[in-house]
Amino acid sequence: MIDDRPHLLRPAYDVAVIGGGPAGLGAAVAAREAGAERVLVIDRDTEAGGVLLQCIHSGFGLHRFGEELTGPEYAQRVLSEALDDGVDVVTDAFVLDVAPDHSVTIASPRHGVVSLQARATVLAMGARERTHSAIRIPGDRPAGVFTAGLAQRLVNIDGVLPGRRVAILGSGDIGLIMARRLTLEGVEVVGVFELLPHPNGLSRNIVQCLHDFDIPLHLSTTVVGIHGRDRVERVTVAPVDDARQPIMGRAWDVPCDTLLVSVGLIPENELSQELRLRIDPTTMGPVVSSTMETSRDGLFACGNVVHIHDLVDFVSAEAELAGRHAGRYATGQMTPTDNVRLLPGANVGYCVPHTVSTDRDHVVYLRVRTMLDPCLLRLRTPDGTVVHERKLRYVAPAEMVNLKLRPSLLQGFHGDSLIVEVVPR
Ligand SMILES: Cc1cc2nc3c(=O)[nH]c(=O)nc-3n(C[C@H](O)[C@H](O)[C@H](O)COP(=O)(O)OP(=O)(O)OC[C@H]3O[C@@H](n4cnc5c(N)ncnc54)[C@H](O)[C@@H]3O)c2cc1C
Repeated sequence: MIDDRPHLLRPAYDVAVIGGGPAGLGAAVAAREAGAERVLVIDRDTEAGGVLLQCIHSGFGLHRFGEELTGPEYAQRVLSEALDDGVDVVTDAFVLDVAPDHSVTIASPRHGVVSLQARATVLAMGARERTHSAIRIPGDRPAGVFTAGLAQRLVNIDGVLPGRRVAILGSGDIGLIMARRLTLEGVEVVGVFELLPHPNGLSRNIVQCLHDFDIPLHLSTTVVGIHGRDRVERVTVAPVDDARQPIMGRAWDVPCDTLLVSVGLIPENELSQELRLRIDPTTMGPVVSSTMETSRDGLFACGNVVHIHDLVDFVSAEAELAGRHAGRYATGQMTPTDNVRLLPGANVGYCVPHTVSTDRDHVVYLRVRTMLDPCLLRLRTPDGTVVHERKLRYVAPAEMVNLKLRPSLLQGFHGDSLIVEVVPR
């Protein structure tokens, strides 16, 4: 992921993009295409590309490029697009502050602490992993407990194995990918332990990463103790009851030298909180309109900083929207407004965007709270009138659902709230 051009930093930009992952790079390209002349992407890492750089397995880009790429290949494509389009990309630069007037303060070894002025800003800071401290596992605090993403970075970028006998808590996608990756490196993966009664990752990852490698998946089971003086020596695991409380009488010990935790991602929203943006308590990301504009004018957001995506292809689609409208805003073009609020109803945790307009096409992303087999994805008015209904074979919290809305569906609902729900059929 080499950008060997001199790292430019002008005092003023049309659009400043915080974060150089696929969301930030995609938004920058779209902002240029919308007419913004000076677009800057700022990333704190030494190379742009975001977390894709450590995802060396294939499976990226099927939707966007129609071919199967590895993470670094996908990142290279979006970085090349940005550089070819004349976007300035500054790396090794940490954004300390974004002010409501779009002045951005950066700290970097090359530039020192500098402020630059933008007309519009795109937040694309991605997400970080929830750690074992967040889920309070009792026991000792020896070396050998890692998040799955850190282990991924150690193996794929630094060429270091985190351990020789590994237990994995949580069946999120990163944990599943790492179960396979470590097995391929000759590490013994003793099992994946999942608190919920169903896996928390994509079905394709359950099959390709666990089943294909005979790695046991223990559902409704959690880690209730970590043991070891200097290094992890074993973990205690126990099945849980319907209230997700461990049944200690049925606990057993699993000898291992490493515990990986894969218990979810949290949008990286310190800057959003400092800006006092409206935050959705479920996604923990900013509330956004259908142009991906946050609750502050000219401040857009996209990618994992808004909500956690399954596939990078959807991140790129969202980034295009945010970048296009940031570019339009920065160059004084009309940006459309919304007139319908979307509210999550039965079995829907959240929907993004939070508002839509009756005069354009939209793709609404949502996550369900629980698994359902044959079911209906339904859009209805608060008094129960069904606006749209689609049959789904199944839904699971781990798999994002898309709802496509056309203006013809929304005619007559100007100023209304509509409820999105997923109900049994
Ligand atoms: C550890 C991990 C592993 C993953 N593995 C997979 C996988 O195997 N397959 C898959 O499909 N998806 C995976 N994902 C999901 C993946 O994050 C998304 O598909 C996609 O990369 C999200 O893009 P993004 O641009 O929103 O965020 P990111 O790719 O995370 O990019 C955000 C960028 O913002 C930068 N940044 C953050 N804050 C600042 C700041 N203050 N100043 C400057 N720069 C900043 C970061 O350095 C980073 O480069 C993984 C996610 C994580 C966290």
